[in-house]
Amino acid sequence: MTVAYADRLRESLSRVRETIAVATLAAGREPSTVRIVAVTKGHPPDAVRAVLQLGLSDVGENRVEELEGKVALLGQEGLRWHMVGHVQGRKARGVVGLADMIHSVDSVRLAERLARAGVDRGRNVAILAQVNTSGEGGKQGLPHAGAEEAVLAMAELPGLSLEGLMTMAPLTDETRVLSATFARLRELRDRLVARSDQIGGELSMGMTNDLAVAVREGSTMVRIGTALFGERDA
Ligand SMILES: *Cc1c(COP(=O)(O)O)cnc(C)c1O
Repeated sequence: MTVAYADRLRESLSRVRETIAVATLAAGREPSTVRIVAVTKGHPPDAVRAVLQLGLSDVGENRVEELEGKVALLGQEGLRWHMVGHVQGRKARGVVGLADMIHSVDSVRLAERLARAGVDRGRNVAILAQVNTSGEGGKQGLPHAGAEEAVLAMAELPGLSLEGLMTMAPLTDETRVLSATFARLRELRDRLVARSDQIGGELSMGMTNDLAVAVREGSTMVRIGTALFGERDA
């Protein structure tokens, strides 16, 4: 049986918006300063159609193949496609033609590949630098120590528009741990913005598990899957 994505999303979206409203109020911010990226990975194209029906336009995928399939089917008109998952170097060029923003740029080397693709296409590729601010080993992202210089180097590349930073928190319910992870990204953003006018202020942080904490810590883009569309198939 197919899930009625639009019906479900109507309800789940209002819950997510309520959470954002409460968290922004607590932080003295406007709810409109937080963009919802609906992460449709693991869900069929109907999930994306539901997003459009409900007046959202930002959708996220974490695998290049799935992004490619959905873009081929649904196009790029009226949608902003976000690549939120790891991008292998050899797929960098392809992603540039598919995604409007790449959240997961986790090495200067990958940034260089994306930059070359941007230059060849004659347009700047919008990226976020992913930083590992949780300190967990084996986690994707630039190591927090040294991230500042790496992001400054990325910002110098032609063909890129470095719009801000992204992080992923550990899977925990400990607010203290989540807050610290997000605050570290915000503080890094503040230092970078002070050092370079080539770096934007976006903070992509907050998923289903840690949405409210991320918004309280300054998130400008939340990447929400499960809370909007339900559990994904394993
Ligand atoms: C899957 C995914 C999300 C959304 O996760 P949920 O917990 O389902 O909200 C966000 N960011 C990235 C990078 C993801 O891979």
